[in-house]
Amino acid sequence: MICSRCGRENIFARGPRTSGPVLAPPPLPPDICLVCGLKDPALRDKLRPWLDELKGWGDRRIREHIQHLRALAVRPLEAIDRFIDSLR
Ligand SMILES: [Zn+2]
Repeated sequence: MICSRCGRENIFARGPRTSGPVLAPPPLPPDICLVCGLKDPALRDKLRPWLDELKGWGDRRIREHIQHLRALAVRPLEAIDRFIDSLR
């Protein structure tokens, strides 16, 4: 699934899963990626409970995804940086 706003791959979109624990996808439209969701004030409010849940997520793949997400963000976004810091 490609994000309809930024045109990048939406890594959290629903789709075939590999083995291992499954993290619920963020409460976003499937064509909106997490970065764009965090940029949208209305969507960001919906994401808060999901972000709280993600803080406790220990799956290494998810952490790698988050690092990848951060690399994709061209401009530093305070919300994303705060979110990333909370995972450390
Ligand atoms: Zn996007």
